Amino acid sequence: MKGAEGLPFVLPYMCMDKAALLEGLNQKLENSYKSLPLATKKEDLVHGEGDPKARVMFIGEAPGRDEAIQRRPFVGRSGKLLRKTLEEVGLPPEKVFISNIVKVRPPENRDPTPEEIAAYRPFLNEEIEIIKPEIIVTLGRFSMAKFLPDVKISQVHGRLHKVIWEKKDLFVLPMYHPAAALRSTKMKEAFVHDFKKVPKILSWLKENEKTTKLKGNIKDILF
Ligand code: URA
Repeated sequence: MKGAEGLPFVLPYMCMDKAALLEGLNQKLENSYKSLPLATKKEDLVHGEGDPKARVMFIGEAPGRDEAIQRRPFVGRSGKLLRKTLEEVGLPPEKVFISNIVKVRPPENRDPTPEEIAAYRPFLNEEIEIIKPEIIVTLGRFSMAKFLPDVKISQVHGRLHKVIWEKKDLFVLPMYHPAAALRSTKMKEAFVHDFKKVPKILSWLKENEKTTKLKGNIKDILF
């Protein structure tokens, strides 16, 4: 089958860069707002942001008040801690990609429901498909459960997991949500301690590019 220019239809899609694909995804999300929970207008949606070629993607829970006003993820109190800690470990926020499992603020910042998470899932999945990060850092238990169901965050935070997700190999580093880190000194110490592992893991992945291929359908803790 040929397109208007005589090229196969798949070729223009393959040639599109990640930024253009993300833009298309955001448009699709905005065009779907009427069928999505929590959204009353397209401006309620808070898209993921950052480097489309990022090696690491952070996934939080849902936008809060500041995020809903600015239409940017993680720009409120917990976002400031996230972004400051990123700078401190040598990863400028604009070099990573930051997103959420639910793209609209739940009323009173309540927990997202399973139905809300399910409704936004295809959009987050497509975001991951486009970015193809080498590591996904989950912030809090809701995004962790997407990749690591049936585990307790207190037991696995800061430990790199290799998982098969949607038939693909993925490295997942679960971390406490920065809002939890703001609630206690102990949590904050754990948050910063875990965060320092991210650049180390990225170097380790680069060095071991060929040997980190997964062998089977396993969920394993690397370190
Ligand atoms: N908390 C989140 O989980 N996401 C945000 O974007 C802001 C706060």
